[in-house]
Amino acid sequence: MARNPLVAGNWKMNMTVPQGRELVAYLLDQKDDVTPVEIAVCPPFTALCPISRQLQEAGSSVKLGAQDIFGDGTGAFTGMISAPMLLDCGCTYVIVGHSERRGRFGKLEDWMTPALQDLFADNDETVGAKARVALKTGLTPIICCGETIGERKAGKTDQVVSSQVKAALSALPAGKLDQIVVAYEPVWAIGTGEVCDAPEAQRVCALVRQTIRGLSTAADKVRVLYGGSLKPDNAEEILVGPDVDGGLVGGASLKGPDFAAIVRAAKATHKA
Ligand code: PEP
Repeated sequence: MARNPLVAGNWKMNMTVPQGRELVAYLLDQKDDVTPVEIAVCPPFTALCPISRQLQEAGSSVKLGAQDIFGDGTGAFTGMISAPMLLDCGCTYVIVGHSERRGRFGKLEDWMTPALQDLFADNDETVGAKARVALKTGLTPIICCGETIGERKAGKTDQVVSSQVKAALSALPAGKLDQIVVAYEPVWAIGTGEVCDAPEAQRVCALVRQTIRGLSTAADKVRVLYGGSLKPDNAEEILVGPDVDGGLVGGASLKGPDFAAIVRAAKATHKA
């Protein structure tokens, strides 16, 4: 089944509003026809509304995504952003369960105390709940899964990935499983420059699809992305995998030419 590729840029905690607008202006200037590739940018919360306006004013088909979500209503949750607030800003997508939000934050920055390392602490249950809230509100969750280097070395990649996928998806209404996106992001490849080699990325993306197949008849409609040090020079060989339907891009999404090149690679490898 043909699936339209998705290339989503996760800006993380980068980009002031002017910087983000400049990057988006670069993307809007690209004149290649990349149909049917869908492009999304996921700025920090502070830039969502201004970037949304910029995309709207340009009549652009580039979609907007958020990097996290908390709940679907209103309430006494200081500092949190709910699904209706994201919709209000024009979001289509929301990333849930990114490895930087699951469990203990990997690195201790010089301003952090150890307690701050445990701050995000998403787990399979909270990731499922966030994805459920997103779907209920009309947002498409990009559900991240992936093993750590320790889990890979212990031969547990398949077990970890399939159990993360099962846990998140079992929290969702069966009739809506065709509306999700899953991103396989080996934790050891995120922001490290270490790339999962292409056959292995395809193998694990196929495993993700197989796992979804065990829960839903919609598995062939679900887009499975690869993420982890995706760059212009490795994008084509990875994205060509039959079960790889695009990429979730971190570092390279902050550089207009690199992100645009990955989008072109998704077009070049589209499986019709
Ligand atoms: C990510 O954070 O989702 C990611 C894939 O980052 P990078 O491309 O920088 O490895």
